[in-house]
Amino acid sequence: MIDDSLAKKAKKQLYKAALEIKLDHNLLKILEKPRRTLKVSIPIKLDNGKIKVFNGFRCQYNDAKGPTKGGVRYHPYVSEDEVVALAAWMTWKCALLDLPYGGAKGGIICTPTKLSEGELERLTRRYTAEIMPILGPHIDIPAPDVYTTSKTMAWIMDTFSMFKGYTEPRIVTGKPEILGGSKGRKEATGRGVAIIAREFFKAKKKSLKGTKIAVQGFGNVGGHAALFLSQMGAKIVAVSDVSGCLVNPQGLDVPGLIECVEKHACVIKHPGKRIERDELLYQDADVLIPAALENQIHRKNSHKIKAKIIIEGANGPTTPEADEILEEKGVYVIPDILANAGGVVVSHLEWVQALSGLYWDEEKVNAELEKKMVKAFKEVWEVAKKKKIGLRCVAYVVAIEKIAEVYRYRGIFP
Ligand code: NAD
Repeated sequence: MIDDSLAKKAKKQLYKAALEIKLDHNLLKILEKPRRTLKVSIPIKLDNGKIKVFNGFRCQYNDAKGPTKGGVRYHPYVSEDEVVALAAWMTWKCALLDLPYGGAKGGIICTPTKLSEGELERLTRRYTAEIMPILGPHIDIPAPDVYTTSKTMAWIMDTFSMFKGYTEPRIVTGKPEILGGSKGRKEATGRGVAIIAREFFKAKKKSLKGTKIAVQGFGNVGGHAALFLSQMGAKIVAVSDVSGCLVNPQGLDVPGLIECVEKHACVIKHPGKRIERDELLYQDADVLIPAALENQIHRKNSHKIKAKIIIEGANGPTTPEADEILEEKGVYVIPDILANAGGVVVSHLEWVQALSGLYWDEEKVNAELEKKMVKAFKEVWEVAKKKKIGLRCVAYVVAIEKIAEVYRYRGIFP
């Protein structure tokens, strides 16, 4: 199913944009490589008394613009290749959104659903201890990603603080609110996806009202995106998660689905017509929001997609080969580094609040998020109007030009 390694895919996207802007060849040599990737073994005691050694990674791809920022993922498919690609995408995303950050990503190869709460806590704490040499509130700041939560962040924060001998809330974002987690962080990525959809429709002089949307991956990002878009008048006609897919051409009850997922951890317990999980991608919808995992839209299935607009909630859901097929079909693909940037925007706001010792209300956080997302969309759209290239390449062009500008001032050490 997968067309290429993820890191190769990330490089291909970078090369395309570099060619477009005739990026200095020497700078490309720097940007095509991660600054550093730490590989760690994580031994923990399981509940049955046995020791199991897990493998984990933390990649800090590029820190030209500031400390690196990126999530930590717990999943059986985590690999060095995946972590490097995700860290590269974080780098471009932070640059595109004008955040004073570079990009990072971490992960542990594990099946979190098969580990007890105690095992997950020990895994998180030992992983934190292993990557401590390269962590710090001005070095690298983790956040949640797939199968990690605010609780995971609390364990990272506590472990880091215990090593330092003082409480350090600036070390992670996506924390529980009682520890300084920002209002609006949980909803931020989905809210950002909805804002970008709204801006795109506005730019195309179309209405979101009655627009049919299919959402793959009804988790944090997909669930919130569906909720905000339905509040804007769109019709959510299909949703899926690992358990399966539900469809209703008249529009699904999104708050009901969210309640169902909170209660049963899957969408299929909700009443409605069930179809094969992966059929979601080919539903009769105007907009498709892939919000599960990477490589879901690839060379073999992209021609079957009916939606004319794809808004990437997940990171890397579309392979470069699929991108080309979709471009030929005239499908707009609003890329991950723009569409799902809401999470890191509010993570930045959380970090700023921790640095300043202030705590903002949700209105202020959402207003800042709105401003940042709209500005980034407009920047991309302005360039898109001039250049006859896909929106992904446009977003990369905007992001990479910003990083190139930083290097022009900073130079290369020594
Ligand atoms: P999540 O674990 O809350 O949700 C993921 C959802 O995808 C789950 O409902 C899961 O059941 C579903 N899923 C997994 N495989 C699937 C498949 N093959 N078909 C259909 N559904 C499937 O994770 P999340 O935080 O919502 O993250 C989803 C994606 O968004 C990831 O790519 C992540 O890197 C990206 N992302 C997340 C954030 C954030 O703030 N959470 C920010 C930016 C990007």
